[in-house]
Amino acid sequence: MSLNLDEHPHRRHNILTGEWVLVSPHRTKRPWQGKQEGTVSEERPKYDENCYLCPGNTRASGEVNPNYESTYSFTNDFSALLSDTPDDGYEDGLLRARNETGICKVVCFSPNHSLTLPLMKIEAIEKVIGLWQKEYTELGAMENINHVQIFENKGELMGCSNPHPHGQIWAQCSVPQEVEKKSRQQLHYWRKNGASLLQDYLIQEIHLNERIVAQNEDFLALVPFWAVWPYEVMIAPKKHYQNIEQLAKSERTGFAEIIKEVTIKYDNLFETPFPYSMGIHQAPTDGAGHEEWHFHMSFYPPLLRSATVRKFMVGYEMFANPQRDITVEQAAQTLRKLSNEHYSQKSD
Ligand SMILES: [Zn+2]
Repeated sequence: MSLNLDEHPHRRHNILTGEWVLVSPHRTKRPWQGKQEGTVSEERPKYDENCYLCPGNTRASGEVNPNYESTYSFTNDFSALLSDTPDDGYEDGLLRARNETGICKVVCFSPNHSLTLPLMKIEAIEKVIGLWQKEYTELGAMENINHVQIFENKGELMGCSNPHPHGQIWAQCSVPQEVEKKSRQQLHYWRKNGASLLQDYLIQEIHLNERIVAQNEDFLALVPFWAVWPYEVMIAPKKHYQNIEQLAKSERTGFAEIIKEVTIKYDNLFETPFPYSMGIHQAPTDGAGHEEWHFHMSFYPPLLRSATVRKFMVGYEMFANPQRDITVEQAAQTLRKLSNEHYSQKSD
């Protein structure tokens, strides 16, 4: 009997991290058919006088936000990283520590308090991408910054307390371990095959056409073969780019379009503003060429069956490795079939 990925419990390999995920497809034999209960989403005002990100408002630091009209970034008033820590280490027997330096920034996507990425216009998302490019370039060029992590936490479920559309950037001296893992795997493949690991993977996925959620000329969105989160999605450029800085203007448009498409599908899935953590992994800014790197954006959303039923990473997953029930292929098919028109803007 041969292994049926749709039927038999199995482990899948994450080519980017070298880690494994346990898949238990027999636990959800019947593919689940879309939403259960819709949630009434409250209408938010375009401006909130109590929001520290809205234009013209005063932040806790006493600084006043400018009356920005598209995007706006500033150094986080409560940064987890600081640019001036003593250049020193600590060693005592088996105990080891090292100072860390860095900069944390907040990136406002829009002056409009009520928007989210899926509700923003393509041109407005392009401006967000433009700001990400600028920040990656400027922060990455700084002497003590060897990695720039761009990310967004969306929704209270992900611990985001302010609904104003915004993301964060943490730029630091050391290269974080998730990125280190991916550097290692990609470098190994690059040296062995003289090719981009992720680009070769995308070519295989386009050929198989089982896990693709959306695509355009320049970008592919798919549920990766090794996805951990139920509706995890990766967006990657079809060309081998190490970082977002390399995107031409037209490619920026393609990137904006596919981000909008994926996040609209997410919202449509349970007819709710879909919570997620999104992050862009790209080449470290440590001065090395990093030809092996292929940048990509990943969405890790916690929701499983409805706007209120989430997946928990507990028990076996804390002590052994991640596990999933609905298969990646089911998730991709569900997302692919969803409308590209946002549920709140349907004309009927
Ligand atoms: Zn606001």
